[in-house]
Amino acid sequence: MDKIALINDLKKEKPHLEQVLNLYEKLCKFREKVKGASEVDQVLKPFAEVFEVPYEFVDFLKEGIKNLNKDPFEDPACLRDLPIEKEKGEEVERSLFILMKGFYLATERKNEGYSFEEGKCPVCGSSPSLAMIDEDNRRYIVCTLCETRGKIFRIGCANCLVRDPTQIDLLVDEDEIRVDLCKNCKSYIKSFKADVFAKFRDPFLIDLISLPLDVVAQERGYERKSPNVLGIKKV
Ligand SMILES: [Zn+2]
Ligand SMILES: [Zn+2]
Repeated sequence: MDKIALINDLKKEKPHLEQVLNLYEKLCKFREKVKGASEVDQVLKPFAEVFEVPYEFVDFLKEGIKNLNKDPFEDPACLRDLPIEKEKGEEVERSLFILMKGFYLATERKNEGYSFEEGKCPVCGSSPSLAMIDEDNRRYIVCTLCETRGKIFRIGCANCLVRDPTQIDLLVDEDEIRVDLCKNCKSYIKSFKADVFAKFRDPFLIDLISLPLDVVAQERGYERKSPNVLGIKKV
């Protein structure tokens, strides 16, 4: 089944997630369109089209990126320095996250040889919040921003790096998607095994359909250290 068909099925199955899944459908289109981009317009244009971003904001971004005097393809994180008032809130933060993602995804990277064992993404510096466990019981972190995948030790907290298994509590939902809660640093990450991956074929989609787990973890006072693929961190 192709991804869009799967997303549409999930919308019927999980109507409470319809809005989130609609947005993810757009993100999938955006991903396709930015592949291989090498000019700022080749990212801004699909960003504006797919997410129906107002022209004024796109012009503002274009001008702002020019004034940064940096190459956003080489260093997408430079967009964090755009003169955007933080009080504009979460929606602006989410837009910036998706735009940065566009610049990260323009350049194709091979997911080989990366390690998250220092507690940060080796490509973009984001904190871990999503992990997959393969058939051989090896654990990998998947970066929700630049989408790099890299290894991490199997047991313990990917954020504070504590290895003591008694510090980790586990919650599991009806799709067998799990949350690892670290009592040591009060952060959590989501994780899932190979059979869950085989069903959905997309780690970011698995992260989104298990949004209710974020609610439970956050209600218990645990923090998600990096947003999901749509830039949503606090739920
Ligand atoms: Zn990253
Ligand atoms: Zn921890």
